Amino acid sequence: PYSGPSAEQILKKRKQYLNPAIFHFFKNPLNLVDGKMQYLFDEKGRRYLDAFGGIATVCVGHCHPHVVDAIVNQTKSLQHSTILYLNPAIADFAEALAAKFPGELKVVFFTNSGTEANELALLMARLYTGCHDVISIRNGYHGNAAGTMGATAQSSYKFNVVQTGVHHVQNPDQYRGVFGSDGLKYAKDVDEAITYGTSGHVAAFIAEAIQGVGGVMELAPGYLEAVYGFIRKAGGLCIADEVQSGFARTGNHFWGFEAHGVVPDIVTMAKGIGNGIPLGAVVTTPEIAKVLAYRSYFNTFGGNPVCTAAGLAVLQVIEKENLQQNALNVGSYLQHRLSSLKDKYEIIGDVRGRGLMLGVELVTDRQLKTPAKVETLHVMEKMKEMGVLIGKGGFFGNVFRITPPLCFTKEDADFLVDVMDYTLSKM
Ligand code: PMP
Repeated sequence: PYSGPSAEQILKKRKQYLNPAIFHFFKNPLNLVDGKMQYLFDEKGRRYLDAFGGIATVCVGHCHPHVVDAIVNQTKSLQHSTILYLNPAIADFAEALAAKFPGELKVVFFTNSGTEANELALLMARLYTGCHDVISIRNGYHGNAAGTMGATAQSSYKFNVVQTGVHHVQNPDQYRGVFGSDGLKYAKDVDEAITYGTSGHVAAFIAEAIQGVGGVMELAPGYLEAVYGFIRKAGGLCIADEVQSGFARTGNHFWGFEAHGVVPDIVTMAKGIGNGIPLGAVVTTPEIAKVLAYRSYFNTFGGNPVCTAAGLAVLQVIEKENLQQNALNVGSYLQHRLSSLKDKYEIIGDVRGRGLMLGVELVTDRQLKTPAKVETLHVMEKMKEMGVLIGKGGFFGNVFRITPPLCFTKEDADFLVDVMDYTLSKM
């Protein structure tokens, strides 16, 4: 049994010693002390169904035994070697990861986070093309360092410390966007941003296949293919940010971009790659990777044996436990059940997403699409009280984000929807 400090004691320390920007949504934040697969346990031993997975990070399940064994075994033999020496863990994982990509995407750079991966991707694109301008989509999130804050296009996370040379284009948002689901019309804005905002040459376009922080926004069909065409015509590289949508989460594919029939020049990933251990990566072609051969890209912890051993174990579990198929089956079932809730409750304006990356948007008026911000928080709080944890996002803070570990079952999906149903019925 847990014998550490109480939630109140931790909260007090947190207020005194930690980053004041950290938010925790709940009136009484949970003190979570244990995790097992899709469940989390608080200090009193109370169990919660985790339908957020630390923001799509816990990929194969909390403390999955195979991943834990890989971490523990590697930790006992060697934790750190630096890039000067050989070690099997990094090489084996790079090989296994490269096998997950189409075409020429075969060279892997390891980092410690999604931010670092995106910073590196932008740097490579700029070195490769000799251009500075980058295009990213409004409402996207790409990280929290100078360059990636520039690429991020939400005021709550944006911070133009330096002039970043990033141009934000219209979000191909099928729910609120002016062109509905017409991806080609939104894509034209990229062409115009190049024409009117740059010399006609750009370094890169960066986008998530499904905006996570932005509220599980799927890009309108046809958009990405058309945009990749415009960008390549302007000499730029196409970067796919798979930090949330990668690693089998979307069910029908291993990577989010695959649903759009495109092949990026650079792919970035983090979160699910290590099931919660700090790890990120950039995958690109040998030709693009060469831009870093003449200057050393050095990252002290990136690709260390412990994290790469964990990464390899995650890939093995996804395969062995058929988790992509599970994400598809359980995700489709869950989406179907959430859509039935939409028929029942006016407050649900939209249900969207793919596989186990789902969003439920709450509005006080379906016609005006007025964000139901307070109600969203209320439902989250009540669901927590009944033992179900979901996330929240979207620019207006009115979208439930459902991104559980991929071992989520149909029974878990039923429990989640029943609890949401009950909560909404009491409002
Ligand atoms: N890209 C996307 C799509 C993300 O969701 C995030 C994190 N929310 C990042 C990049 C940044 O990753 P990290 O927090 O690991 O730096």
